[in-house]
Amino acid sequence: MSSGSGEPRVKLRAALEGLPSYRPGRSAGPSSEPAQSVYKLSSNENPFPPLPGVLEAVNEAASSLNRYPDMFATGLVAALSDRFDVPAEHLATGTGSVGVLQQVIQACAGEGDEVVYAWRSFEAYPIVVGISGAESVRVPLTANARHDLDAMADAITDRTRLVVLCTPNNPTGPAIRRAELAAFLERVPSDVLVVIDEAYREFVRDPEAVDGLEVYARHPNVCVLRTFSKAYGLAGLRVGFAVAHDDVADALRKTAVPFGVSGVAQAAAVESLKHEAELRDRVVELVDERTRVMATLREQGWSVPDSEANFVWMELGESTEDFARKCAENGLIVRPFAGEGCRVTVGESAANDRFLRVSQEWISGSEV
Ligand SMILES: *Cc1c(COP(=O)(O)O)cnc(C)c1O
Repeated sequence: MSSGSGEPRVKLRAALEGLPSYRPGRSAGPSSEPAQSVYKLSSNENPFPPLPGVLEAVNEAASSLNRYPDMFATGLVAALSDRFDVPAEHLATGTGSVGVLQQVIQACAGEGDEVVYAWRSFEAYPIVVGISGAESVRVPLTANARHDLDAMADAITDRTRLVVLCTPNNPTGPAIRRAELAAFLERVPSDVLVVIDEAYREFVRDPEAVDGLEVYARHPNVCVLRTFSKAYGLAGLRVGFAVAHDDVADALRKTAVPFGVSGVAQAAAVESLKHEAELRDRVVELVDERTRVMATLREQGWSVPDSEANFVWMELGESTEDFARKCAENGLIVRPFAGEGCRVTVGESAANDRFLRVSQEWISGSEV
């Protein structure tokens, strides 16, 4: 796409070449068939609208939009410190936990360094690692779609600066268990940062599953990422946070985009922490729906990994795109990963009912 003027083009960093652009889940958009509702099950969003109290806090904060927000989100940090019983100095906020992850990687890794993570896992990882100039080292999941922590420990070299663990894993669903993580951490050198990305922590029910905050308390090289985007239902406001020890948390504040978390987002997050009981009820409803969806899929004959998050993983191989198309024809937007499978968010029960009808039709029509 040369301008044809013959002038040299702007020099971009070589690290950006070949990087995938982040592909957000398709939006439900305006339906071409108004007769049928369209459900967006492609981005693991919370199907419930914001709570009334949260909307009021947002409206109130909006009246000072002419001002820059509190740069260090002091009120939010104090509320998080209280809620999670961690010192304020151990907290750093950012524009969603993907924003915080970018701060983490910028703080730890650059050209010549390696970042280890499981694959398939969250699509943002190769992008944020690639932007930093560091190299991604992807360790395949096990056959049952879990992290292979032994292989991940084996993949650590003296160039490894950080390891990212996604639990529950997006897009496959299983959570990492305490015992396997403890054994893994024994093998990680103390100067390598282990990031535990717990975007779906609130949906976890397996009693053996890792709770990052417990782990962080015992390991100076562990950093936990949490977000208000999923269980708290604030995906549109971009607010997440890290819990890490002093030096790491301090580095995260240095690499943050100045004033990145808006005053509206800060106010909404603080208010959400005051409505945890109502939010928990919604999460319980979604977890019940997840249990129902997984059980029904298995009765239908699907083999689905145990999901501890608000989505399920449908292994479809070469049929992935066809399955996503059939879903779309039925007003369901799901997230296909070509050649591998579809990730389907657990939504409101009507959306799940419709999805289960489609999955039944698919499996009856495509007997192996
Ligand atoms: C959704 C998600 C996030 C959070 O994204 P935000 O930037 O906070 O909206 C982080 N990690 C994983 C694995 C996710 O799926």
